[in-house]
Amino acid sequence: MKVLVLGAGIIGASTAWHLLDKGHDVTVVDRQSGAARETSFANAAQISVSYCEPWANAQAPAKLLKWMFRNDAPLLFRPQLDWRQWRWGLQFLGQCNDAAFERNVQQLVALGAYSHAALKDVVRATGISYQRLERGIAHYYTDQASFDAAGHAAELMRRYGVQRRVVSTAELLAIEPAFQPFAHRIVGGTYTASDESGDARVFTEKLAARSAARGAQFLFGHDVLRLERSGGAIEAVQVRDRSSGQSQRLSADAVVVACGSWSAPLLRSVGVDLPIYPGKGYSATFRILQPERAPFVSAIDDEVKCAMSRLGDELRVAGTIELSGYNSTLDTPLARARCRMLAERVEQVLPGVCDTRSEAEGGNPRFWTGLRPATPTNIPYIGRTRLDRLWVNAGHGTLGWTHGAGSGKAMAALISGERPQMAFGFLGFDDGGAQLAHSRA
Ligand SMILES: Cc1cc2nc3c(=O)[nH]c(=O)nc-3n(C[C@H](O)[C@H](O)[C@H](O)COP(=O)(O)OP(=O)(O)OC[C@H]3O[C@@H](n4cnc5c(N)ncnc54)[C@H](O)[C@@H]3O)c2cc1C
Repeated sequence: MKVLVLGAGIIGASTAWHLLDKGHDVTVVDRQSGAARETSFANAAQISVSYCEPWANAQAPAKLLKWMFRNDAPLLFRPQLDWRQWRWGLQFLGQCNDAAFERNVQQLVALGAYSHAALKDVVRATGISYQRLERGIAHYYTDQASFDAAGHAAELMRRYGVQRRVVSTAELLAIEPAFQPFAHRIVGGTYTASDESGDARVFTEKLAARSAARGAQFLFGHDVLRLERSGGAIEAVQVRDRSSGQSQRLSADAVVVACGSWSAPLLRSVGVDLPIYPGKGYSATFRILQPERAPFVSAIDDEVKCAMSRLGDELRVAGTIELSGYNSTLDTPLARARCRMLAERVEQVLPGVCDTRSEAEGGNPRFWTGLRPATPTNIPYIGRTRLDRLWVNAGHGTLGWTHGAGSGKAMAALISGERPQMAFGFLGFDDGGAQLAHSRA
């Protein structure tokens, strides 16, 4: 089959790779000059199969309300004059109960396990290196009440087969001694040995290059202008070369929309309405000055809700979520405050380990922002739409790197007429299952 993949982030690149495995003829279109130039560019680097709880839980509405006016809030809902944002918010609230939480966790765990196996297969098959560290993820707490609640969460996750261990401060420091300077603030933690970290951008770029070597065609620097619909099917995709300005019409047996947050407006233009909304996040990457004191274990800081991962001789720290529209600028007072917060936190937790100085002070931090394609359930849409030939692989929110390899593999299987072996509600196949009963798709 001739398949057109729209988007070359981790999801599009992985979809392309697995489609090649199935013997399809693949073309990938992306507006950027290379793969992984948008949300897959500088994320927190965690393959966090075991830390996959959705944001929507019974306690979330009260927390959100409390955080609404705080610039340093981990999850910030900034109301816009956009009814889709409000609709997304209402659907999110609809998921804030124990039954929905458990249902969503089950699917996220299933996709995570499938995806982890798929990632390992890809790495084995390709030998791609991407600063991978198989040292697990540690989540540390500075507040006793939150640590107590973590015990319940770990118990719940263990019911779904997630091996998350509750650990004392001493055990945590034995697992990762680099947090010793912050030990006086840590009341305890949890640890999952099977989780990993690695650079999503490097992996995605290399996977795209290997796919090109296997015969996939990559049209970088091409905007997807329009999906052309005729009756109940997609006829073609209009793309335009950014440098020459020339447009062309591409047709295929299957078109996969993997445009991250931008999938929603693109799909809506042909009447497929999925609640994917951008959740803006930030990261900072610092040069490591003292390698012997820098952590190898990837970490989640519960207090400021950020994640830290070592990527070779650099440390990546990332976090916070703002639901405030399609705005990816770093040049606002709020964005500057958030970047500063990340630098300050690294200095508190790992004093002197990284060069956290600002540019004005002679440092060279790299700040970045990306738009997570968020769904109210945290569960991505993988499957077919009601339009013939139109497929979707989008809405991976906070976990697109974790779920990337498996989402690509599952998409390729579905297009090839196979059923992936996992307990997951695929769009267009299992509607009425655990996916939101939301869409006109
Ligand atoms: C701060 C932060 C930290 C994160 N940390 C983690 C983590 O530790 N672990 C984890 O698993 N996940 C993490 N994530 C989430 C993860 O990065 C995303 O879920 C993932 O990158 C989404 O991948 P994607 O391929 O769907 O989207 P993208 O990477 O955004 O790819 C979409 C592609 O589509 C292209 N595109 C869009 N519209 C058009 C158009 N009209 N024409 C042509 N091309 C188009 C874009 O150029 C882009 O390349 C984090 C995200 C953020 C923001």
